[in-house]
Amino acid sequence: MARPLHADIDLAALRHNYRLARELAPGSRALAVLKADAYGHGAVACARALEPLAPAFAVACLEEAQTLRAAGIQRPIVLLEGIFSADELEQVEALGLWVAVHSDWQLDALLAHHPRRPIPAWLKVDTGMHRLGFPPAQAEAAWQRLRAAPERVTDLHLMTHFATADALDPGYFQHQMAQVEALAGRLGAPLCLANSPATLAWPRAHGAWNRPGVMLYGSNPLEGENDAARDLRPVMTLRSEIIAVREIDAGEPVGYGGRWRAPRRSRIGVIAVGYGDGYDRHAVDGTPVLVDGQRCGLAGKVSMDMATVDLTDLPGAGIGSRVVLWGRDDSGAVLSVDEVARYCDTISYTLMTGILPRVPRYYQ
Ligand code: PLP
Repeated sequence: MARPLHADIDLAALRHNYRLARELAPGSRALAVLKADAYGHGAVACARALEPLAPAFAVACLEEAQTLRAAGIQRPIVLLEGIFSADELEQVEALGLWVAVHSDWQLDALLAHHPRRPIPAWLKVDTGMHRLGFPPAQAEAAWQRLRAAPERVTDLHLMTHFATADALDPGYFQHQMAQVEALAGRLGAPLCLANSPATLAWPRAHGAWNRPGVMLYGSNPLEGENDAARDLRPVMTLRSEIIAVREIDAGEPVGYGGRWRAPRRSRIGVIAVGYGDGYDRHAVDGTPVLVDGQRCGLAGKVSMDMATVDLTDLPGAGIGSRVVLWGRDDSGAVLSVDEVARYCDTISYTLMTGILPRVPRYYQ
Protein backbone atom coordinates (compact mmCIF):
# COMPACT_ATOMS: atom_id res chain seq x y z
CA MET A 1 0.00 0.00 0.00
CA ALA A 2 1.21 3.51 -0.76
CA ARG A 3 2.13 5.94 1.99
CA PRO A 4 -1.26 7.27 3.07
CA LEU A 5 -0.63 10.98 2.58
CA HIS A 6 -2.29 13.15 -0.03
CA ALA A 7 -4.01 16.48 -0.54
CA ASP A 8 -7.57 16.44 -1.78
CA ILE A 9 -8.39 19.56 -3.78
CA ASP A 10 -12.08 20.43 -3.85
CA LEU A 11 -12.58 22.33 -7.10
CA ALA A 12 -16.27 22.95 -6.37
CA ALA A 13 -15.20 24.76 -3.18
CA LEU A 14 -12.73 26.79 -5.26
CA ARG A 15 -15.50 27.84 -7.60
CA HIS A 16 -17.77 28.63 -4.64
CA ASN A 17 -15.11 30.89 -3.11
CA TYR A 18 -14.51 32.60 -6.44
CA ARG A 19 -18.24 33.31 -6.77
CA LEU A 20 -18.22 34.74 -3.26
CA ALA A 21 -15.38 37.11 -4.20
CA ARG A 22 -17.42 38.21 -7.20
CA GLU A 23 -20.64 38.68 -5.22
CA LEU A 24 -18.88 40.79 -2.61
CA ALA A 25 -17.78 43.23 -5.32
CA PRO A 26 -20.53 43.24 -7.95
CA GLY A 27 -19.08 46.28 -9.73
CA SER A 28 -15.64 44.72 -10.16
CA ARG A 29 -14.17 41.91 -12.18
CA ALA A 30 -12.12 39.42 -10.17
CA LEU A 31 -8.73 38.20 -11.34
CA ALA A 32 -8.09 34.79 -9.83
CA VAL A 33 -4.57 34.85 -8.39
CA LEU A 34 -2.88 31.54 -9.27
CA LYS A 35 0.72 32.31 -8.42
CA ALA A 36 2.95 29.84 -6.56
CA ASP A 37 1.15 26.95 -8.27
CA ALA A 38 -2.19 28.34 -7.07
CA TYR A 39 -0.95 28.61 -3.50
CA GLY A 40 0.08 24.96 -3.63
CA HIS A 41 -3.19 23.67 -5.05
CA GLY A 42 -2.02 23.14 -8.65
CA ALA A 43 -2.33 26.10 -10.98
CA VAL A 44 -3.38 24.20 -14.09
CA ALA A 45 -6.21 22.30 -12.41
CA CYS A 46 -7.39 25.45 -10.63
CA ALA A 47 -7.26 27.51 -13.83
CA ARG A 48 -9.26 24.86 -15.69
CA ALA A 49 -11.86 24.84 -12.90
CA LEU A 50 -12.13 28.62 -12.86
CA GLU A 51 -11.84 29.38 -16.56
CA PRO A 52 -15.62 29.35 -17.14
CA LEU A 53 -16.05 31.89 -14.31
CA ALA A 54 -12.96 34.08 -14.13
CA PRO A 55 -12.31 36.62 -16.90
CA ALA A 56 -8.56 36.64 -16.17
CA PHE A 57 -5.84 35.12 -14.02
CA ALA A 58 -2.78 36.51 -12.28
CA VAL A 59 0.63 34.92 -11.68
CA ALA A 60 3.95 36.24 -10.46
CA CYS A 61 6.13 35.65 -13.50
CA LEU A 62 6.44 34.52 -17.11
CA GLU A 63 7.30 30.90 -16.26
CA GLU A 64 4.04 30.50 -14.35
CA ALA A 65 2.09 31.94 -17.28
CA GLN A 66 3.90 29.63 -19.71
CA THR A 67 2.79 26.63 -17.65
CA LEU A 68 -0.83 27.73 -17.91
CA ARG A 69 -0.62 28.44 -21.64
CA ALA A 70 1.08 25.08 -22.27
CA ALA A 71 -1.91 23.45 -20.58
CA GLY A 72 -4.28 25.25 -22.94
CA ILE A 73 -5.51 28.03 -20.63
CA GLN A 74 -6.69 30.85 -22.84
CA ARG A 75 -7.88 33.64 -20.56
CA PRO A 76 -5.74 36.74 -20.15
CA ILE A 77 -3.00 36.32 -17.54
CA VAL A 78 -1.49 39.26 -15.68
CA LEU A 79 2.16 39.10 -14.64
CA LEU A 80 1.93 40.72 -11.20
CA GLU A 81 5.65 41.48 -11.10
CA GLY A 82 5.85 42.24 -14.80
CA ILE A 83 8.90 41.25 -16.78
CA PHE A 84 12.24 40.36 -15.22
CA SER A 85 14.21 41.23 -18.38
CA ALA A 86 13.38 43.05 -21.60
CA ASP A 87 13.71 39.90 -23.71
CA GLU A 88 10.62 38.47 -21.99
CA LEU A 89 8.46 40.89 -23.94
CA GLU A 90 8.51 38.64 -27.03
CA GLN A 91 6.92 35.88 -24.96
CA VAL A 92 4.53 38.29 -23.26
CA GLU A 93 3.27 39.21 -26.69
CA ALA A 94 3.26 35.70 -28.11
CA LEU A 95 1.31 34.37 -25.14
CA GLY A 96 -1.11 37.30 -24.93
CA LEU A 97 -0.11 38.31 -21.39
CA TRP A 98 -0.77 41.52 -19.49
CA VAL A 99 2.05 43.14 -17.53
CA ALA A 100 2.42 45.11 -14.36
CA VAL A 101 4.97 47.90 -14.69
CA HIS A 102 6.62 48.78 -11.41
CA SER A 103 9.92 50.43 -12.32
CA ASP A 104 11.58 52.73 -14.80
CA TRP A 105 13.56 50.03 -16.59
CA GLN A 106 10.35 48.07 -17.28
CA LEU A 107 8.67 51.20 -18.59
CA ASP A 108 11.63 51.92 -20.87
CA ALA A 109 11.69 48.32 -22.13
CA LEU A 110 7.97 48.34 -22.86
CA LEU A 111 8.16 51.61 -24.73
CA ALA A 112 11.18 50.44 -26.73
CA HIS A 113 9.41 47.26 -27.81
CA HIS A 114 7.43 47.22 -31.05
CA PRO A 115 4.57 44.80 -30.53
CA ARG A 116 2.29 43.66 -33.32
CA ARG A 117 -0.60 44.49 -31.00
CA PRO A 118 -0.36 46.83 -27.99
CA ILE A 119 0.26 45.06 -24.66
CA PRO A 120 -2.21 45.63 -21.79
CA ALA A 121 -0.24 47.30 -18.97
CA TRP A 122 -0.97 48.03 -15.33
CA LEU A 123 1.09 50.72 -13.65
CA LYS A 124 1.98 49.75 -10.11
CA VAL A 125 2.08 52.55 -7.56
CA ASP A 126 3.77 52.27 -4.19
CA THR A 127 1.32 53.84 -1.77
CA GLY A 128 2.94 52.41 1.34
CA MET A 129 4.00 48.79 0.95
CA HIS A 130 7.44 50.08 -0.10
CA ARG A 131 8.24 46.98 -2.06
CA LEU A 132 7.42 47.42 -5.76
CA GLY A 133 5.94 50.35 -7.63
CA PHE A 134 6.39 54.00 -8.56
CA PRO A 135 6.12 56.49 -5.70
CA PRO A 136 2.94 58.55 -6.25
CA ALA A 137 4.97 61.64 -7.12
CA GLN A 138 6.56 59.76 -10.06
CA ALA A 139 3.56 57.73 -11.07
CA GLU A 140 1.88 60.55 -12.89
CA ALA A 141 4.79 61.02 -15.31
CA ALA A 142 5.04 57.26 -15.83
CA TRP A 143 1.32 57.10 -16.60
CA GLN A 144 1.60 59.93 -19.11
CA ARG A 145 4.47 58.16 -20.89
CA LEU A 146 2.33 55.04 -21.21
CA ARG A 147 -0.67 57.07 -22.32
CA ALA A 148 1.41 58.66 -25.04
CA ALA A 149 2.24 55.26 -26.60
CA PRO A 150 -1.09 53.67 -27.60
CA GLU A 151 0.66 51.62 -30.31
CA ARG A 152 2.81 50.00 -27.57
CA VAL A 153 0.48 49.65 -24.57
CA THR A 154 -3.26 49.51 -23.99
CA ASP A 155 -5.92 48.95 -21.29
CA LEU A 156 -3.98 51.01 -18.77
CA HIS A 157 -4.88 50.53 -15.11
CA LEU A 158 -3.38 51.70 -11.85
CA MET A 159 -2.62 49.06 -9.27
CA THR A 160 -1.34 49.17 -5.73
CA HIS A 161 -0.90 46.55 -3.03
CA PHE A 162 -2.04 46.96 0.57
CA ALA A 163 0.25 46.28 3.50
CA THR A 164 -2.43 46.07 6.21
CA ALA A 165 -5.85 45.43 4.63
CA ASP A 166 -6.11 42.39 6.93
CA ALA A 167 -5.48 44.34 10.14
CA LEU A 168 -8.04 45.48 12.72
CA ASP A 169 -6.63 49.00 12.69
CA PRO A 170 -7.80 50.63 9.43
CA GLY A 171 -5.42 53.61 9.65
CA TYR A 172 -2.66 52.60 7.27
CA PHE A 173 -5.05 51.01 4.78
CA GLN A 174 -6.94 54.31 4.62
CA HIS A 175 -3.69 56.18 4.14
CA GLN A 176 -2.86 53.97 1.13
CA MET A 177 -6.41 54.33 -0.23
CA ALA A 178 -6.31 58.12 0.02
CA GLN A 179 -3.12 58.24 -2.01
CA VAL A 180 -4.28 55.97 -4.79
CA GLU A 181 -7.68 57.65 -4.96
CA ALA A 182 -6.08 61.09 -5.29
CA LEU A 183 -3.81 59.83 -8.06
CA ALA A 184 -6.59 58.03 -9.90
CA GLY A 185 -8.74 61.15 -9.63
CA ARG A 186 -6.05 63.22 -11.33
CA LEU A 187 -5.37 60.62 -14.03
CA GLY A 188 -8.88 59.31 -14.58
CA ALA A 189 -7.38 55.83 -14.23
CA PRO A 190 -9.30 52.60 -13.66
CA LEU A 191 -8.09 50.74 -10.59
CA CYS A 192 -7.02 47.28 -9.52
CA LEU A 193 -6.39 47.31 -5.77
CA ALA A 194 -8.11 44.70 -3.67
CA ASN A 195 -6.42 41.52 -2.48
CA SER A 196 -8.48 39.03 -0.44
CA PRO A 197 -8.74 41.04 2.78
CA ALA A 198 -9.80 44.15 0.88
CA THR A 199 -12.24 42.12 -1.24
CA LEU A 200 -13.79 40.75 1.98
CA ALA A 201 -13.74 43.83 4.18
CA TRP A 202 -13.15 47.04 2.23
CA PRO A 203 -15.71 47.90 -0.49
CA ARG A 204 -13.93 51.25 -0.83
CA ALA A 205 -11.06 49.36 -2.45
CA HIS A 206 -13.18 47.52 -5.01
CA GLY A 207 -12.01 48.75 -8.39
CA ALA A 208 -12.51 47.87 -12.03
CA TRP A 209 -10.61 44.70 -11.11
CA ASN A 210 -9.90 42.98 -7.80
CA ARG A 211 -7.12 40.47 -7.14
CA PRO A 212 -8.32 37.88 -4.62
CA GLY A 213 -5.85 35.11 -3.89
CA VAL A 214 -5.91 33.28 -0.60
CA MET A 215 -9.67 33.56 -0.08
CA LEU A 216 -10.20 31.51 -3.26
CA TYR A 217 -8.52 28.64 -1.44
CA GLY A 218 -10.84 29.01 1.55
CA SER A 219 -8.57 30.85 3.94
CA ASN A 220 -9.67 33.97 5.79
CA PRO A 221 -6.75 36.39 6.05
CA LEU A 222 -8.54 38.95 8.26
CA GLU A 223 -7.57 39.59 11.86
CA GLY A 224 -11.12 40.44 12.86
CA GLU A 225 -14.52 38.80 12.51
CA ASN A 226 -16.13 38.97 9.09
CA ASP A 227 -19.52 37.60 8.05
CA ALA A 228 -18.61 36.98 4.43
CA ALA A 229 -15.50 35.02 5.39
CA ARG A 230 -17.67 32.50 7.22
CA ASP A 231 -18.97 31.35 3.83
CA LEU A 232 -15.51 30.40 2.57
CA ARG A 233 -15.01 26.68 2.04
CA PRO A 234 -11.68 24.88 2.47
CA VAL A 235 -10.26 23.78 -0.87
CA MET A 236 -7.28 21.70 0.28
CA THR A 237 -7.69 18.83 2.73
CA LEU A 238 -4.37 17.35 3.78
CA ARG A 239 -5.08 13.75 4.71
CA SER A 240 -3.04 10.98 6.24
CA GLU A 241 -3.45 8.04 8.62
CA ILE A 242 -2.20 6.74 11.92
CA ILE A 243 0.53 4.26 10.97
CA ALA A 244 1.66 3.16 14.46
CA VAL A 245 0.61 3.49 18.09
CA ARG A 246 2.80 3.52 21.22
CA GLU A 247 1.73 3.24 24.88
CA ILE A 248 4.10 5.18 27.12
CA ASP A 249 4.35 5.81 30.86
CA ALA A 250 3.88 9.17 32.52
CA GLY A 251 7.04 11.24 32.26
CA GLU A 252 8.33 9.58 29.07
CA PRO A 253 9.40 11.97 26.26
CA VAL A 254 8.27 11.78 22.63
CA GLY A 255 10.25 12.69 19.52
CA TYR A 256 13.44 14.69 18.85
CA GLY A 257 14.71 16.56 21.86
CA GLY A 258 12.02 14.99 24.01
CA ARG A 259 10.09 18.24 23.91
CA TRP A 260 6.78 16.64 24.86
CA ARG A 261 6.60 14.56 28.03
CA ALA A 262 3.61 12.41 28.84
CA PRO A 263 1.70 13.97 31.75
CA ARG A 264 0.04 10.58 32.39
CA ARG A 265 0.16 7.12 30.84
CA SER A 266 -0.46 8.01 27.19
CA ARG A 267 -1.24 6.58 23.78
CA ILE A 268 0.79 8.18 21.04
CA GLY A 269 -0.27 7.90 17.40
CA VAL A 270 2.27 8.26 14.59
CA ILE A 271 0.98 10.16 11.52
CA ALA A 272 2.51 9.74 8.08
CA VAL A 273 3.30 13.42 7.52
CA GLY A 274 6.40 15.47 8.23
CA TYR A 275 8.37 18.50 7.21
CA GLY A 276 9.69 16.48 4.27
CA ASP A 277 6.14 16.85 2.94
CA GLY A 278 6.04 20.53 3.78
CA TYR A 279 4.10 20.17 7.03
CA ASP A 280 5.46 22.94 9.23
CA ARG A 281 8.12 21.88 11.73
CA HIS A 282 7.21 24.92 13.84
CA ALA A 283 3.93 23.26 14.86
CA VAL A 284 3.89 23.39 18.67
CA ASP A 285 2.63 20.70 21.03
CA GLY A 286 -1.15 20.81 20.96
CA THR A 287 -1.40 21.89 17.30
CA PRO A 288 -4.81 20.49 16.35
CA VAL A 289 -5.38 17.61 13.94
CA LEU A 290 -8.54 15.62 13.31
CA VAL A 291 -8.33 11.88 13.97
CA ASP A 292 -11.46 10.08 12.79
CA GLY A 293 -13.07 13.53 12.78
CA GLN A 294 -12.16 14.29 16.42
CA ARG A 295 -9.78 17.03 17.46
CA CYS A 296 -6.60 16.11 19.23
CA GLY A 297 -3.18 17.69 19.58
CA LEU A 298 0.32 17.03 18.29
CA ALA A 299 2.70 15.73 20.95
CA GLY A 300 6.39 16.18 20.15
CA LYS A 301 8.35 17.84 17.36
CA VAL A 302 7.40 17.20 13.75
CA SER A 303 10.09 15.08 12.08
CA MET A 304 10.87 14.63 8.39
CA ASP A 305 8.35 11.92 7.58
CA MET A 306 6.28 11.61 10.74
CA ALA A 307 4.39 13.56 13.35
CA THR A 308 3.08 12.30 16.68
CA VAL A 309 -0.29 12.94 18.24
CA ASP A 310 -1.74 12.33 21.71
CA LEU A 311 -4.55 9.76 21.31
CA THR A 312 -5.05 9.12 25.02
CA ASP A 313 -8.56 10.61 24.98
CA LEU A 314 -9.50 8.79 21.75
CA PRO A 315 -9.47 5.13 22.79
CA GLY A 316 -11.18 4.10 19.56
CA ALA A 317 -8.39 5.52 17.39
CA GLY A 318 -5.61 3.26 16.19
CA ILE A 319 -3.59 2.15 13.19
CA GLY A 320 -5.49 3.09 10.03
CA SER A 321 -7.50 5.88 11.69
CA ARG A 322 -7.96 8.70 9.25
CA VAL A 323 -6.16 11.98 9.94
CA VAL A 324 -6.89 15.44 8.60
CA LEU A 325 -4.05 17.92 9.10
CA TRP A 326 -6.31 20.70 7.81
CA GLY A 327 -9.45 20.82 5.73
CA ARG A 328 -12.67 18.83 5.90
CA ASP A 329 -12.97 15.32 7.35
CA ASP A 330 -15.40 12.75 5.92
CA SER A 331 -17.56 13.29 9.03
CA GLY A 332 -18.01 16.94 8.00
CA ALA A 333 -15.73 18.24 10.79
CA VAL A 334 -13.53 21.10 9.59
CA LEU A 335 -10.09 22.14 10.81
CA SER A 336 -9.17 25.44 9.20
CA VAL A 337 -5.70 25.99 7.81
CA ASP A 338 -5.87 29.42 9.46
CA GLU A 339 -6.12 27.83 12.89
CA VAL A 340 -3.23 25.46 12.21
CA ALA A 341 -1.19 28.42 10.97
CA ARG A 342 -1.66 30.20 14.30
CA TYR A 343 -0.17 27.21 16.12
CA CYS A 344 2.79 27.31 13.75
CA ASP A 345 3.24 31.05 14.25
CA THR A 346 2.75 31.62 10.53
CA ILE A 347 0.02 32.30 7.97
CA SER A 348 -2.07 29.94 5.88
CA TYR A 349 -0.20 31.07 2.75
CA THR A 350 3.05 29.46 3.85
CA LEU A 351 1.37 26.24 4.96
CA MET A 352 -0.48 25.75 1.67
CA THR A 353 2.34 26.80 -0.66
CA GLY A 354 4.73 24.73 1.45
CA ILE A 355 3.18 21.36 0.65
CA LEU A 356 5.82 19.67 -1.46
CA PRO A 357 5.50 17.72 -4.73
CA ARG A 358 5.93 14.37 -2.99
CA VAL A 359 2.38 14.85 -1.66
CA PRO A 360 0.01 13.79 -4.45
CA ARG A 361 -2.91 16.09 -5.17
CA TYR A 362 -6.22 14.42 -5.92
CA TYR A 363 -8.80 16.60 -7.62
CA GLN A 364 -12.51 16.32 -6.97
N1 PLP B 1 -1.95 41.07 -5.66
C1 PLP B 1 -0.63 41.02 -5.46
C2 PLP B 1 0.25 42.02 -6.13
C3 PLP B 1 -0.09 40.04 -4.63
O1 PLP B 1 1.23 40.00 -4.42
C4 PLP B 1 -0.97 39.12 -4.00
C5 PLP B 1 -0.47 38.08 -3.09
O2 PLP B 1 0.48 38.18 -2.40
C6 PLP B 1 -2.34 39.20 -4.25
C7 PLP B 1 -2.80 40.20 -5.08
C8 PLP B 1 -3.32 38.27 -3.59
O3 PLP B 1 -3.30 38.48 -2.20
P1 PLP B 1 -4.21 37.58 -1.26
O4 PLP B 1 -3.71 36.20 -1.40
O5 PLP B 1 -3.96 38.15 0.10
O6 PLP B 1 -5.59 37.74 -1.74
